[in-house]
Amino acid sequence: MTSRTVARLVPGTQTMEGDGMDVMRAFPAGTTSYFDPFLLLDRLGPVTFAPGAAKGVPAHPHRGFEAITYLLQGEIEHRDSFGGSGMLRAGDVQWMRAGSGLIHSEMPPEDFRRRGGTLQAIQLWVNLPRADKMLKPEYRDIGAAEIPEVETSDHSTRVKVIAGEAAGKSAVLGTRVPITYLHFTLKASRSVTQRVGAGDTVLAYTLEGRGVAGRDRRPIAPNQLVVFSSDGDVVELAAGDQDLQVLILAGLPLGEPVSRYGPFVMNTPQEINDAIEAFRSGLMGTLQ
Ligand code: MN
Repeated sequence: MTSRTVARLVPGTQTMEGDGMDVMRAFPAGTTSYFDPFLLLDRLGPVTFAPGAAKGVPAHPHRGFEAITYLLQGEIEHRDSFGGSGMLRAGDVQWMRAGSGLIHSEMPPEDFRRRGGTLQAIQLWVNLPRADKMLKPEYRDIGAAEIPEVETSDHSTRVKVIAGEAAGKSAVLGTRVPITYLHFTLKASRSVTQRVGAGDTVLAYTLEGRGVAGRDRRPIAPNQLVVFSSDGDVVELAAGDQDLQVLILAGLPLGEPVSRYGPFVMNTPQEINDAIEAFRSGLMGTLQ
């Protein structure tokens, strides 16, 4: 068993999405476009809206990848141009294959906007291989109750298995490019050693608390992305003197060229032009 070291620590970048929604973007940022096969990682909130003030992301297109939204607080309603719709509540996960292209909206529902409240979500984009980029769009909700959760008998360590496997449990969610997506909650001073694929890109993202990551025990803080080195088959994370909430992401790189422009991620600039043209000419449908 070889434990990976930390190759890079990446601070989040505050950015704006939709109709004025502040998000903390781990990547793409600066000169880093992606961590193959992961294309984007955003944390929305936690942000508390006054009654009538809640914001969201109105109708916009996507093509060429899959998006996974993990709702931690609040409510978000999804609607898309292929008839997909769903209401996400705390702990629910939404999987959307943009594939050949769709238009969708991600908005707090009417009653949430009226009442106000706290919203927090994580959105991850996972690339599709060249051969699968033009698959038909698909949409699915995975309710919190369907997501395996394993806790040690002393309640010091808990993991939610959003994708892949951990602690002997397999996730319900299947992405085209198999990934591991785990949400760990560690009590103060507790640690976890998670097995990862030998060739996997492995990332960790701190939601709450502080601790250390990697064999080299690098300090980690909220909204910081950890990029692990490529050598080794386990990663280690440990909480400091308070509880630590951290996500682990792992997946085998596709090793294909990436050409991206906003909501479209393809292999070549020509395919990006094609995506823009398809959107403009209505081929991605309309949101009713
Ligand atoms: Mn979107």
